[in-house]
Amino acid sequence: MTRLRPAVIVHYHELSLKRGNRPLFLRHLARNLRSATNHLGPVTLRQLPGRILLDLAGHPQPEAVRDRVAQVFGVASCALAYRVPSTLDAMRAVIGELLAGKEFPSFRISARRAFKTYPLSSVEINTALGAFVLERVRTRVDLTHPALTIHVEVLPAETFVYLDRMAGPGGLPVGASGTVAALLSGGIDSPVAAWRMMKRGCRVLFVHFHSVPYLPPTSQEKARALVERLTAWQYRADLLLVPFGEIQREVVISVPPPARVVVYRRLMVRIAEALARRSGALALATGESVGQVASQTLQNIARIDEVAGMPILRPLIGMDKLEIIAAAQQLGTFEISIEPDADCCTLFVPKHPATRMSSEEVHGAEAKLDISGLVTRGCDEVKVETFDYDPVRPPFPRDPEI
Ligand code: ATP
Ligand code: MG
Repeated sequence: MTRLRPAVIVHYHELSLKRGNRPLFLRHLARNLRSATNHLGPVTLRQLPGRILLDLAGHPQPEAVRDRVAQVFGVASCALAYRVPSTLDAMRAVIGELLAGKEFPSFRISARRAFKTYPLSSVEINTALGAFVLERVRTRVDLTHPALTIHVEVLPAETFVYLDRMAGPGGLPVGASGTVAALLSGGIDSPVAAWRMMKRGCRVLFVHFHSVPYLPPTSQEKARALVERLTAWQYRADLLLVPFGEIQREVVISVPPPARVVVYRRLMVRIAEALARRSGALALATGESVGQVASQTLQNIARIDEVAGMPILRPLIGMDKLEIIAAAQQLGTFEISIEPDADCCTLFVPKHPATRMSSEEVHGAEAKLDISGLVTRGCDEVKVETFDYDPVRPPFPRDPEI
């Protein structure tokens, strides 16, 4: 038996569309692939035409590398492949080894040539290797719904043969789109929103407002647990913890109850924006969706946007609560989010918040507040915690197909 030379091949699609930015995207993807798989053993990365190769010669756990790579944003699909010289004999030999002891009712060979000067066409390769399989296994060829597909990718220097291809999460490599500051409550929505920004290539800086000492530190613990889980998608993350209780007290003194929720949100946005600027983030992100709660009517969203000097991205804006819950469950954030806690917004929150505030009303409500003083206070009292990807955490679920 010849020694198989394993490698993971990574395919990406969206990246190839972005011609100008391609080197940047590939650099981020390569770095993230390294960060995701470092703990499993030494991996050498190589850029090949249209794909990235992770050389796993002598690696202790090639399957584990493949499984981990399948959860890196920017990966369209990946496969655990075997490398052979580009001769039919070498291809046959490795296919023979891979199929040893396997039974499958139908199959097909899917050959692709990355360069057209190879002496055999894809069809000729398919035919030659298909005949080889039929000689050894009782099976039949099925080109449309095969039980097994044997992939053969012929590159100039060598050929990759593999059986199974795993779908990746798609999206763009984290970091390629710049940084956003995500407002992370302990609730269900904002972690999903942050994850969706990561999927679009954004590095997320997490900002959480808490009401310690007016409330127990539960919301901070939830925020930490959520960031820890989401860090598996971006490998390193900062969580900014902003004490908000004193600020809320000031609001309670001078703002009438129905206006408070919108005033709190506007303060959060102002503080988050100041913190975002310090870290070079170019936008904010929230978990709002139209009409979900009082603060999320179109009118109140407009009042919140009025105070922002950078875009507020709302990736869940058109989603139903049930869709968001399904995504949170698949992402593994749901169990953390539903832990009971007294979120800072339950503190000093009126029974009947205004659902349609006008600009005049909100300006009137804020008139007695020292807005810039409160923003400065929030920024000065922030505490930063850094999270590194922890590979011993239980594997997180597959892409929530949303
Ligand atoms: P979530 O499930 O994300 O808490 P929600 O449905 O409870 O959202 P709101 O309470 O109106 O809705 O919050 C809207 C958004 O404001 C949240 O998605 C989040 O981005 C932000 N936000 C609310 N509370 C906080 C907080 N304590 N710290 C940071 N951001 C917050
Ligand atoms: Mg909430």
